[in-house]
Parts: sequence; structure tokens; C-alpha cells
Amino acid sequence: MIYDLHSHTLASDGALSPAELVASAEQAGVGALAITDHDTTAGYSEWHALNRSSSVRVIPGVEFSTTWNGIGVHILGLNVDPGSDAMRSGTRSQLNARRERAARIIERLQKAGLAVDEAALLDSAGTTAPGRPHIARYLVSQQLVKDERTAFKKYLGAGKAGDVKNLWADLSTVIEWIRGSGGTAVLAHPDKYNMTFGKLTRLTADFAGLGGQAIEVISGRQLAVTTERLARLAASQGLLASMGSDFHQPGQSWASLGKITQMPASASPVWDSW
Ligand code: AMP
Ligand code: FE
Ligand code: FE
Ligand code: ZN
Repeated sequence: MIYDLHSHTLASDGALSPAELVASAEQAGVGALAITDHDTTAGYSEWHALNRSSSVRVIPGVEFSTTWNGIGVHILGLNVDPGSDAMRSGTRSQLNARRERAARIIERLQKAGLAVDEAALLDSAGTTAPGRPHIARYLVSQQLVKDERTAFKKYLGAGKAGDVKNLWADLSTVIEWIRGSGGTAVLAHPDKYNMTFGKLTRLTADFAGLGGQAIEVISGRQLAVTTERLARLAASQGLLASMGSDFHQPGQSWASLGKITQMPASASPVWDSW
């Protein structure tokens, strides 16, 4: 059984509708797929409302943005109840933060001399969860940068004008929202934070201390040594292991749906308790 417990739809910064995503997962032979849009469960709810049958078990999820010691980190909520008070108030609060953040980023870009029209940009994003990828796409469409990569490199990436991360709820709050909605809190893509292993161990220990339950031992395509290192880290902190492609769009460089390495036999998979 292939588990892919991290994916995005048009409800955040993915390129496929929920129905297209599930159909692609089915084609890729995925048995269980978690839809984990940034700060919203709207993509999952859209799929659920279609009331379609599929060989794929679709698991409701979310990917919350937060910070730890000033560093932006992402926490997945897997198997959450989207209708619960905790999830509704959590996503409402984060989506407000996203809109406020988009406005601040746009203001900073304007101050940097870019001709950005706020209304047109938000309109082009077509989502309640505007993020940096939508801003990057707009800058490309206005020919203000040549491609999205350059948009991140010059304006939106870490330390640049558009790097606004102080609006998110804190780590303990997002874990409470996830657990309060019956979900499992998972530290997303630990290898993507450019932290030393010592720092990552401290993050993981703090996360576990606050009620975090698992880490993504596998995120997309990665080296076997990374998988082994993260599996050991999970075990040392008493955490379960999750895995996912972090699929956003067909053709992305880091992984396609379901094309992920196998979980090491020594790991305790997060889905065992579901
Ligand atoms: P946000 O949630 O608005 O902070 O945007 C984060 C998302 O932007 C990530 O989930 C990725 O999908 C995307 N992203 C982050 N860094 C880059 C980058 N350097 N180039 C392209 N996309 C990126
Ligand atoms: Fe994303
Ligand atoms: Fe992420
Ligand atoms: Zn993601």
C-alpha cells in the first residue's frame, strides 16, 4: 500500500483541483492520500462534497505555517476533522494572517519599486489562501521577473522584502488546533529548513514536548542517508514517522504523487493508529 500523506490543490498553491489530484493519485497507484493545503481544509471539503467513490482513501489534512525561534516551519495536521471547532477557528485565524501578510508583502514590493496592483494580484491568486507562490506567479505575469524561481530569489525568499513570517500562530497553538480536531501533528519536511542536525534535534524535541506526534521521515525524493537519519531522529524523540510527496503540480522536480521511497522497517508509521 502506497501512502502519500502530503499534497496540495488549487485551494492553496497546488495546480490541480481536488478531483484531478485524487484521479492522478489513483493512476499513480496511491492507496491513501492526505490533502494538506496550506492553512485551509477547503480542498478536502470540495472533494468530500463531490461524494465520488475512488480506490484512493482520501485523508483530510492541513499544513499550518508557524515559526520556531524566528524560523518559518510547517506543521501538518493529518486525519483532522475539518468541521471541528478547533480546525475551523484555526484555519480562520491563519487565513486572516495570510491576507494580512499578502497586503504587507505587496506594500514592501511597492516600496521596492515594483508596480504591483493589490486587487489584481489577489484576484489572480483565486484562493482564500494567498501565498508567496501566487505573488511569484503574478510578478512573472507582469513581466517584473523572468520566472518564479527568480521571484523567490530576488523578492520572496528568506531574508528578502517579501519574507514576512511574524503573523502566524505559534507552534503550541497550531499543535493544539490539530490535536483538538482529532488529528495527528506532524513536523513537515524537516530536511528543508537548512538547519544543522543539532538545531533540528532541538526543534524536534520542542515539538514533541508541546504535543507533536510525528515527523516526515520521507519528503519527496531524498537520499537514503537522509531517510535513515530522520528515522533515527523520530525514534530518539519517541515520534511516529510520516511520508509524503509534497505534490504541488505535475512535473515538479522533487517528486511526483506516490513516487516516494519506502519507509524504513524500523520506523513506527503514523497511520498504524488510524
Ligand atoms: P507561503 O506558504 O506563502 O510561505 O509559501 C510557501 C510555499 O512557497 C512553499 O510551500 C512552496 O510551495 C513555495 N516555495 C517556497 N520557496 C520557494 C522557492 N524558492 N521557489 C519556488 N517556490 C517556493
Ligand atoms: Fe506550497
Ligand atoms: Fe511546506
Ligand atoms: Zn506542502
